[in-house]
Amino acid sequence: MKSKNIEGVPYYGLQQKLEYKARIAGCAVIYVDPKHTSQRCPACGKVDKKSRDRERHEYRCHSCGYSSNDDRAVAMNIRHRGLEKMKQG
Ligand SMILES: [Zn+2]
Repeated sequence: MKSKNIEGVPYYGLQQKLEYKARIAGCAVIYVDPKHTSQRCPACGKVDKKSRDRERHEYRCHSCGYSSNDDRAVAMNIRHRGLEKMKQG
């Protein structure tokens, strides 16, 4: 497995630690496809690359007007995908 780094921590190592901590806490770890999670509006679902301003850390949907911190919008999209995956079983 090719290991990517997230803030200096090898991805595989982070994954192992997360799964270990989740097991202790009795929680499940759900992996989701990250595609477009930084471009998708968490309010209306519109995918638009121009909605995210990385320099200002802002997300502003040009379709419905929703705005938020960009990292928050990404987290909401990841959560949404996780919930959808749980519903599928
Ligand atoms: Zn929107």
